[in-house]
Amino acid sequence: MKFSPEFIEKVRDSSNLVDIISQYTQLKPTGSGLMGRCPFPDHQEKTPSFSVSETKQVYHCFGCHKKGNIFTFLQNYQGMSFPEAIEFLANRAGIAMPEKNSGNDEQFDRQKERKKLLARVNQLANYYFGEQLKRVANDHPVKKYIAKRGLSQEVMDAFQIGYATPDWDGLVKYLESKKVPMDLIEEARLAKARSGGKTGYFDIFRDRLMFPILNPMGEPVAFGGRIIEQGEPKYLNSPETPVFVKGKILYGLAQTARYIRTEDQAIIVEGYMDLVSLYQAGIRNAAATMGTALTPDHGKLLKRMTKNIVVLFDGDSAGQEAAERSLPILLSADVHPKGLTLPEGMDPDDFVKTHGADALRDLMAKAPDLFVSILQRWMEDYRGEASQKVKLCDQLKPVLEVVPDSRLQDLYLQEAARRMSVPSNWLKEALFKTNGKLAVEAQNIRRETSVKPMNVPTATAEPKTVPNTPRFILKGAPKPEILLMGLVLKSRANFEAFLKENITESLSHAAVSEILKKATDVYRQDPNKFDKLTSLLVSFVDHPEVLFVNENANESFDEDSERKLLRDVFKRVRDNSLKEQAKKLARDLKSDPSADKLEQIMNIQRNRHSLNKN
Ligand SMILES: [Zn+2]
Repeated sequence: MKFSPEFIEKVRDSSNLVDIISQYTQLKPTGSGLMGRCPFPDHQEKTPSFSVSETKQVYHCFGCHKKGNIFTFLQNYQGMSFPEAIEFLANRAGIAMPEKNSGNDEQFDRQKERKKLLARVNQLANYYFGEQLKRVANDHPVKKYIAKRGLSQEVMDAFQIGYATPDWDGLVKYLESKKVPMDLIEEARLAKARSGGKTGYFDIFRDRLMFPILNPMGEPVAFGGRIIEQGEPKYLNSPETPVFVKGKILYGLAQTARYIRTEDQAIIVEGYMDLVSLYQAGIRNAAATMGTALTPDHGKLLKRMTKNIVVLFDGDSAGQEAAERSLPILLSADVHPKGLTLPEGMDPDDFVKTHGADALRDLMAKAPDLFVSILQRWMEDYRGEASQKVKLCDQLKPVLEVVPDSRLQDLYLQEAARRMSVPSNWLKEALFKTNGKLAVEAQNIRRETSVKPMNVPTATAEPKTVPNTPRFILKGAPKPEILLMGLVLKSRANFEAFLKENITESLSHAAVSEILKKATDVYRQDPNKFDKLTSLLVSFVDHPEVLFVNENANESFDEDSERKLLRDVFKRVRDNSLKEQAKKLARDLKSDPSADKLEQIMNIQRNRHSLNKN
């Protein structure tokens, strides 16, 4: 969804970064703003070095140097996409989202309203399941099960794990008491009508440990329930509803995105219990597929956070097949998947309980490329017979043709050829010959929308959203200009000094000059908007850290030295500009000598001299 700059600004203006960050770390007022311990999981600290400016709506950590605005915080900490962050903040502030399609307004409104109601029902159910767990005695089987799994209260709370009692209509009664219409409860797939001529409804989840499945905005949209005692099925998942599309949600991300981001790696597991167990064991950069195959949407979701993926599926045949199916999906998402199969048919929980989290980390560090590990599996009985070669070609083709990076495609092809003991040219031709050219074929398949993503994922481009692609490219800007911009955006006094200096014409870098021109426009319209400038710009530049230049300086950096630094920077920018002008004239002079040009050069040199004397 595309948002207008006005809408983004409206959302930002009605949200407060301090409220959001205060949920994760305690912020205390200090001389220049608010300080707290860094909330990011890769930065454990005893003394607070995480600063938040309420007026500027930006954060900056003096320890790990993370910085940004309210949108980048939600993106990096909660794993939301930019549009999701907008939607989350708009909902929070009670701002109506802009209409997606103007054509079918009434139907669209009804759908939207229905989704809101469904989200509300799930929220109530989540609360109910949580309360039921609190109520049961410590020797209750569900509490014993939790103890046996070794789940701490912290982890139970983090995942909002609850309990559905064995009652036939506990949840139905509760929701009825909250005046929720029965058709809505049914649509949320929390209850079913009784059959066999009986009237009334019954709970779908009974006597199960309940895992709410949260969307990226942190709202429960579905549930997974694990049976406590004997019974079938062991795991029961909500079917899809208008608010829950399995192929678009990965379980656990609301809690684990911040770890995936900071560790730059995501471990994919099959079920929520796998994920929660790993989390309990201290391995927190994981996400779970909830028993379905990975989809191209999952691939995109993951790529937004990291390119380093480890697929950790069970050693049984179902797990291995799931890993196999995920290979072309992940390769076409242009990430780097590795594959790890646990020994002796163990699942991740068994493994960390038996061997410990460190042993699992060791295994993951050594995990082979997923392509190689699957190729190995395909080649278990390989003896080089002609029929085996043909079969392997058939297996390799759909995998290799979706690799977007032709270098990687070539390397995989060579690896496969080596293992098959065939010349790579032969393999290339064997894959080519059957269906025309490999690359062309792949493109056609990607374009083909009717082909469903079983093993031929459609690698459509991510829809363009504002402002996921930076508008101002600061890469390569000269240092004095970067410093100038950082200083000028730091305070109003500096900005006033900049306006008086009239230096914009001397800026050589297009993005720096554009940013400062924009800032001047905004400031001239309304000087009170100055404080919001940095926060606004964070989303639009490729290197947001440069907007915070000089904030690293220690407390002793006083106003006087700052003013001096600013003067010095103005001088350096002017001097560089004059130097460039002189250079250009000197070049021109060579091809077209004239007294006039020589005079100009001398003027410039005089200006430079007097500039540097002051
Ligand atoms: Zn930090």
